[in-house]
Amino acid sequence: MKPTSHAFKANARAALGDPKLQQAMTNLRAGFVERRALMVSRMPEWEQLRDQAVAIKKHTLAHLDFYLENFERNVVANGGQVHWCRDAAEANATVLSICRSLDAKTVTKGKSMIGEEMAVNDYLEANGITPVETDLGEYIIQIRHEGPSHIIAPAVHLVKEQVAESFRATHTHLDPNRKLDDARQMCDEARGIMRQKFLGADVGITGANFLIAETGSSIIVTNEGNGDLTQTLPRAHIVLASLEKMVPTLEDAATILRLLARSATGQEFSAYTTISTGPRRASDIDGPGQYHVVLLDNGRSALLGTEFEDMLRCIRCAACLNHCPVYEAIGGKSYGWVYPGPMGSVLTPSLLGIEEAGNLPNASTFCGRCESVCPMKIPLPKMMRHWREREFSRHLNPAAARWGILAWAFLATRPGLYRIFSDGAALVLGYFGKARGRFRSLPLAGGWTDFRDMPAPQGQSFHRLYARERRRKERA
Ligand code: SF4
Repeated sequence: MKPTSHAFKANARAALGDPKLQQAMTNLRAGFVERRALMVSRMPEWEQLRDQAVAIKKHTLAHLDFYLENFERNVVANGGQVHWCRDAAEANATVLSICRSLDAKTVTKGKSMIGEEMAVNDYLEANGITPVETDLGEYIIQIRHEGPSHIIAPAVHLVKEQVAESFRATHTHLDPNRKLDDARQMCDEARGIMRQKFLGADVGITGANFLIAETGSSIIVTNEGNGDLTQTLPRAHIVLASLEKMVPTLEDAATILRLLARSATGQEFSAYTTISTGPRRASDIDGPGQYHVVLLDNGRSALLGTEFEDMLRCIRCAACLNHCPVYEAIGGKSYGWVYPGPMGSVLTPSLLGIEEAGNLPNASTFCGRCESVCPMKIPLPKMMRHWREREFSRHLNPAAARWGILAWAFLATRPGLYRIFSDGAALVLGYFGKARGRFRSLPLAGGWTDFRDMPAPQGQSFHRLYARERRRKERA
């Protein structure tokens, strides 16, 4: 998928004016935010668990080479194969060569953000292989030819009427007068279609929530069971995973799993947690004949030891998206690539470079909710600030913004001058805004006043009020 993050502002404006998107996004609060809060409130050891999870990931990242090699040894001992890939091109070529070696025509896919990062569907299609998404949300996005908008709920930006429309347009062999009024009817239809795809697939591709070094296993969590059918029915199972998915032991994965479902969907545990360890053994009644792990770097190893290393702790739970006021207002497609919301605003520039992903680190009010709900305690606002600094130092922001920041820095580092300026501004704006109490437009503030009124100052500047309060306290 070609990134369009540079068009973030235009995308966001269009999203704000899209009534269906706005209607769909209201589901975020009841669907994720409230359920997560309830789950966390029932768990007194929540903070302790977060600390434990952070320690596991920090340890793993500090010894990543050791655990990656350990993982490969165990995969091979189990009869599988690990393919080390520097970038998406290498990973796609690897997937294609596995498919060709099996003369595969159809591939079923479980949900995989790494697959999105690689744009593996487009690549396979261009090479004569049909990929079929089996996660219901991903399937809907696939038949609508859309890019990702949420990392765990791919169709969260759609209302059910849009889904019904897409089903009618795609499943043209079914009765055109059938009822598709509610989610149950649509799920039943998708299930019927999917069953045939599962049975006919030559290769199954899944992502991985975790890779386990001590056993050479991969773990996926789903709520639909599609991942299990994707990986057990075809002749080969390909796991697409980035290298930071590694944890040392099954017990470590179990610790982080307790955080994952609660943070993601507000469940105690996802409906299915599936551990895959190698291909089918002689004593197994089913399972794939081949097990491949395509291990993608794509810029991640370059983050180790930098101020962005913490981002490699991310477990893709989406809590930061679900709690972000910016994401809630504009949805995920505005971010223009695979990873939206606060985690995307850090990860996208980290993987693609700030030149490709400008605007994204600015898509934040810095309210701090993302960091406070992140189960892995990733300091997202701090890292966005680092990207903003780079954007500034490389002269990537518009000239007006640069001059504004320079003027601000000049004043902010001279407290006396700053006070004179802020007192003067409060006086002048207070005088001119007195009649209405607000401004409908202001020079240099169109970014604000084009969409809402700017309140006029109602009295003294903060500094004066603060000084007055301090004097009052000293006298008391
Ligand atoms: S940054 Fe934190 S909250 Fe956001 S997806 Fe990653 S782990 Fe979840």
